[in-house]
Amino acid sequence: MILKKYDTWVFDLDNTLYSAETGIFDQVDKLMGEFISRHLKLEISEAKKIQKKFFRHYGTTLKGLMDEYKIDPEEFLDEVHKLDYSIIKPNQNLKEGLIRLNGKKIIYTNANKQHANEVIKRLNIENIFDLIFDIKDANYIPKPDMGPYKMLVKSNNIDPKKTIMFDDIARNLVPASKIGFTTVWIDVGKENYSDDIKSSKKYLDYETTDLPLWLNSIIKEE
Ligand SMILES: [Mg+2]
Repeated sequence: MILKKYDTWVFDLDNTLYSAETGIFDQVDKLMGEFISRHLKLEISEAKKIQKKFFRHYGTTLKGLMDEYKIDPEEFLDEVHKLDYSIIKPNQNLKEGLIRLNGKKIIYTNANKQHANEVIKRLNIENIFDLIFDIKDANYIPKPDMGPYKMLVKSNNIDPKKTIMFDDIARNLVPASKIGFTTVWIDVGKENYSDDIKSSKKYLDYETTDLPLWLNSIIKEE
């Protein structure tokens, strides 16, 4: 039943299309701390505090750096995505699930396209997505600000009632739900210092700990 209700499938990237256990996000986290330390000439421990504060307050560390320190977003995004992607492995279950979804498939990420393309190449799910809507497309305004969700809908002629969105950060699904999307929260099972699961709870339509399993289970129901 679920499968036929939707013609647009919106996926967050990091910790949603691949497991948080890969440690990719830990690498980004470390590089962000180092970037701030270098640019603002701070000890790492101080830089980490600013990083977390900005993430909580602005939705991304980058937005805080842009607003408060006029940091060049391209330079920041380049620097913090110099990653060892080899730890992301092909995911056949994910691929099979995605291929069998009817309609438009979109990646919606607070990161940039170069990072998204590296990840989907490693997961072996290239050529499945119709669109990558990245932080540049969103004018560097991150989720969970409502603005970019509206841009995403408008610029791609999306019918929110026929759209379902997946994200591991519960608060990113609040504006998604408010705009009319159905929401699926990917519970990665570790404390996320920026998240607010309690107040987001009523905006979460479905929850799963395993995206490929969830996709394949709705396909089997047909
Ligand atoms: Mg994520």
